[in-house]
Amino acid sequence: MNTQPGRPLERAVRIADRLYWVGERLADDSFQCHTYLLENGDDSVLFDPGSALTFPHTLRAIAEIIPFARIRYFVCHHPDPDIIGSLGVVDSMVARPDAVLVTHWRAAALLKHLGLRLPFWQVEQHDWRLELSGGRTLEFIFTPYLHFPGAFATFDPATGTLLSSDLFGGFTEGPGLWAEDESYLEGVRSFHEHYMPSREHLLSALVAFEKLPIRQIAPQHGRLIPEPFVRGAIDELKGLDCGLFRFSRKESDVARLMDLAAVLRASLDALVLQRDFRDVAATLLEQARRLLPVAALEFYSGDVATLVKLHSVATGFRGEPTPVPEWLVGVLGADQVAWRARQGDRPASVEEPFGHAVALPLFGADGVARAVALLRLERVAELSDDEASILAQLARPLAVALERESSQHRVEDERDQMYERSIRDSLTGLYSRRYLDDAGRHLFERHRRDPAACFGVVMIDVDHFKRINDAHGHPVGDVVLKEIASRIGSVTRGGDVVVRYGGEELAAFVYAARADELGRYAERVRRAIASPPIPTSAGPIVVTVSAGAALHVAGEPIDALVRRADEALYEAKRTGRDRVCMAP
Ligand code: GH3
Ligand code: MG
Ligand code: MG
Repeated sequence: MNTQPGRPLERAVRIADRLYWVGERLADDSFQCHTYLLENGDDSVLFDPGSALTFPHTLRAIAEIIPFARIRYFVCHHPDPDIIGSLGVVDSMVARPDAVLVTHWRAAALLKHLGLRLPFWQVEQHDWRLELSGGRTLEFIFTPYLHFPGAFATFDPATGTLLSSDLFGGFTEGPGLWAEDESYLEGVRSFHEHYMPSREHLLSALVAFEKLPIRQIAPQHGRLIPEPFVRGAIDELKGLDCGLFRFSRKESDVARLMDLAAVLRASLDALVLQRDFRDVAATLLEQARRLLPVAALEFYSGDVATLVKLHSVATGFRGEPTPVPEWLVGVLGADQVAWRARQGDRPASVEEPFGHAVALPLFGADGVARAVALLRLERVAELSDDEASILAQLARPLAVALERESSQHRVEDERDQMYERSIRDSLTGLYSRRYLDDAGRHLFERHRRDPAACFGVVMIDVDHFKRINDAHGHPVGDVVLKEIASRIGSVTRGGDVVVRYGGEELAAFVYAARADELGRYAERVRRAIASPPIPTSAGPIVVTVSAGAALHVAGEPIDALVRRADEALYEAKRTGRDRVCMAP
């Protein structure tokens, strides 16, 4: 008998007290199915007897330990051929009347078709425990759908061994029974991601395992996991992307499928974890690059008949109106059912002067392509069917993210428009007095960043405006006011702020590099209004204004500044109108 890990596996291997590996390593079989024997006198147990390929060897290995006739229990964790292929032989060999086939009723329902003489001993009818003579007890743990409806595993409390059936199995190359380092766990990951049906099913089994004092894991495939790696192995299996097999119509390269799974996981995470579309797009670009030589990712949204917007890195993915590229027609706005019928999961190939690209329609909840993702490629690249379907999966989070982004922009735009309306005076288009608080904050902030510069306010009041109203009527007065506002605008710089402060009283908040600039600005305003006369329906009217200017002094609140400018304005009125006065 072989008790040394790493020795050639010609013979039985003791893996714990009275517990033996009695399998055979088949050449070129990366599945490596394992059979275990618990030696317990006349109550001995054989776990997962094996296939027709391995059973002759298993019989020899058993014979090294006990006569076959001592085996009373034949445990079938699930009814796969590599486990039950030998049952016909077992059935013909068993002579004792108390021998049973230990399994779950769901497996028994199929195993009965083998027409064996061996009766079933169903775990669920025995409270999921098997008490052996001499006090050794086995516990059974239900692991439904992993990977058979009635699958279960066995725990041997006496040795802390979990006979885990297919769980913790993995593909293995070369000889060796034990996992020698954590790299084995990476293979376990791929094995499970590939075919385990779902994370939920897997988790329910892992949670049950975690309650057990496991000291080693003996799976029916792959390598045995010694105590130091047990915790890591359980952790490794939590949070896997199970069910990967469903994406795979042709692909049998598990490593490749794992890669694809990582792509999907990362893109879904991006959507869930990242609120900013730019971050979502960046993650998806990174993921798409694992499938294709993608140089850049951009999006088109809107309607080819009216307006198409381009969302690119350059604009922070905020849509900018763009001419409609020819390839976009028939993609943007496409119907999902018709598209699938024509293209399947394949993206549209795009050949443009800029080079090769693929276009992915992003279907909204209504089944219409509301946007299109364009992946610009560095060179022509072929996508396998599986990759194309992964790419189509990527489109889903993209569609949601883009929808979320554009509705956010819509809300922002509406909010901006509402704000704009609330701070603008409808007659003159100048800012309303309500805006003063915000404007003041901006100016103070600007001043703080550039303390060497200065800013000030010019209060402007129309001279004898009442007379214009009285002589020509209110509507003509309105026209004059509008023209005054427009002439002030024409001499004011973009960053400066002109407010309709009262009826015909205006205030210009002006940022100036030097103190004397403020007075010169006020003078420009005065002159711009004074001539030429303002054309109205009542003929050209000569209008003048008086202005008072005050420079902001450090620490001065905005209303104090305005008051000083107002006093200077009053001074201008008092000393004859049509003039500018500077506050001291
Ligand atoms: P002063 O040179 O001393 O400023 O003389 P004034 O006539 O301009 O001064 P006053 O403040 O007495 O009159 C302002 C007038 O402006 C009174 C008001 O009817 C008129 N006014 C205020 N808002 C509007 C407006 O929106 N449209 C028109 N047409 N007139 C307005
Ligand atoms: Mg006036
Ligand atoms: Mg007035």
